[in-house]
Amino acid sequence: MHTPHRHILGLLCLLLQIVLAGPARSAELTLGDVQQVFPAAVSISALDGKAAAYLVRGPGGTLGYAFSTEELAPISAYSGKPINTVVGLGEDGLIRGVHILHHEEPILVIGISDQDLQDFIDQFKGRKSTDRIRVGARGRPGYVGIDGISGATITTMVMTSSVSKAVQSVASAYDIPAGTAPGTPDAQAQAPDAGATPAADEPAWTLLWQERTVELVVVTLALLLLMAILFFQDWLVERTVLFHRLRVGYLLFTVFFLGFYCAGQLSVINLLAFFHSLTSGFSWDTLLIEPVIFLLWAFVAVSILLWGRGVYCGWLCPFGAAQDLISKLARRLGFEGYRLPQMVHERLWAIKYFILIALVGLSLDSMVNAARLAEVEPFKTTFVLHFMREPPFVAYALAMLAVSAINSKFYCKYICPLGAGLSFVTRFRIFDWLRRRRECGKPCQACAHQCQIAAIKPTGEIIDNECHYCLECQVNYWDEQLCPPLVEKRKKREARERKRQEVIATDT
Ligand code: SF4
Ligand code: SF4
Repeated sequence: MHTPHRHILGLLCLLLQIVLAGPARSAELTLGDVQQVFPAAVSISALDGKAAAYLVRGPGGTLGYAFSTEELAPISAYSGKPINTVVGLGEDGLIRGVHILHHEEPILVIGISDQDLQDFIDQFKGRKSTDRIRVGARGRPGYVGIDGISGATITTMVMTSSVSKAVQSVASAYDIPAGTAPGTPDAQAQAPDAGATPAADEPAWTLLWQERTVELVVVTLALLLLMAILFFQDWLVERTVLFHRLRVGYLLFTVFFLGFYCAGQLSVINLLAFFHSLTSGFSWDTLLIEPVIFLLWAFVAVSILLWGRGVYCGWLCPFGAAQDLISKLARRLGFEGYRLPQMVHERLWAIKYFILIALVGLSLDSMVNAARLAEVEPFKTTFVLHFMREPPFVAYALAMLAVSAINSKFYCKYICPLGAGLSFVTRFRIFDWLRRRRECGKPCQACAHQCQIAAIKPTGEIIDNECHYCLECQVNYWDEQLCPPLVEKRKKREARERKRQEVIATDT
């Protein structure tokens, strides 16, 4: 590995250690916090029971209990950090209110305001401590359904789970009754179906997996196909036409089905959130809330250890695939493309690592700020918002796609912090199935010139951290018209055959 890469990765390791060390947190409530859910509160006193909660008193006596979800049910949300809310629970077992105290969810970038989140969580007001509250479960036997917020599935589901768990732990710790009187006028309309047998208390994500069964089956089959391509890569790359058709087909699937239809685009924010969640309440439930993203990450985790990050970047990343297709189309139309000089190219590589370092550093302070910098990823603009966004974001995304026609996968090579993060793990990969010949780089430069990522050194070695596993160099490896040692062998074979034909002709 290049020395600069080693230094950059060393710095990243250090930052990740700081992330994993985690910040000190305090989830203590003040009277001001509690007044958000019990406006008449005049004093609070901490209770010593099994659940950390406060007894709240008003001018006329006890009002109920107040507690923090970060203290009682700290579940990491989309940002990798829990959302802290104060919950008010009456002595009668009815929820008096829930108020958001702190969150780092990058929701603003998709047009969701703090007030939208507060309006969402206000749906808990008047519910019973025993209600099984679920986003989007209206009409499900045994559940109370509430409305979610489009585009903020993880955030809303985590808030729901966190508040529900905290309420249940306080209710059982202090023997609070289930709550019998409706707290709001519409609470009968939303009550669980009393006549129905309550379903088992399923995790929140199961409903989403059921709703997306077809997508999940298609994605699973596509991942199995990719596995087959990798296992039979030597056989496939020898059949150039078949391989190229298969590859273009796969890239189209990645862009249109995975990207535009499923919004199955991984983001550097997922990586940062994962590391933060290790210190602030890792939860499988959070990971499982977005089924397609979960499948992709699971596949990436395995494939990166086996073959490196190239499998994701070369085949499964919708933005990478879109750039690849644009660059292929440009070449088809006769655009030669422009490659930066090797010296400049190698220096520009570093940009994506610096962006990643800045993101990790920023995320230590605030995921909201990290999410702002993560706008360097044009993914959300392209595949989540479908270019329906403010003009500068759209112009940036389109520019990153268009530039690929001139300089293939420009964004991937120099800017993508996700690619940088994934290449960090590539150093631990197990297999090295990309074949090279003694003549590669000494003197042959055919593959090096053709590699769209310029991931082959002039000396012939493949730079694993940068390679996108497109297998083009493997096509060349078996190409008797292009690979010089094979060309030489072919010419000798043809000369022998000509001689044999001449002898046969002379004899007859
Ligand atoms: S470098 Fe980034 S944009 Fe390019 S393929 Fe990899 S993850 Fe996708
Ligand atoms: S041509 Fe070879 S070295 Fe270059 S990206 Fe493709 S597989 Fe990797």
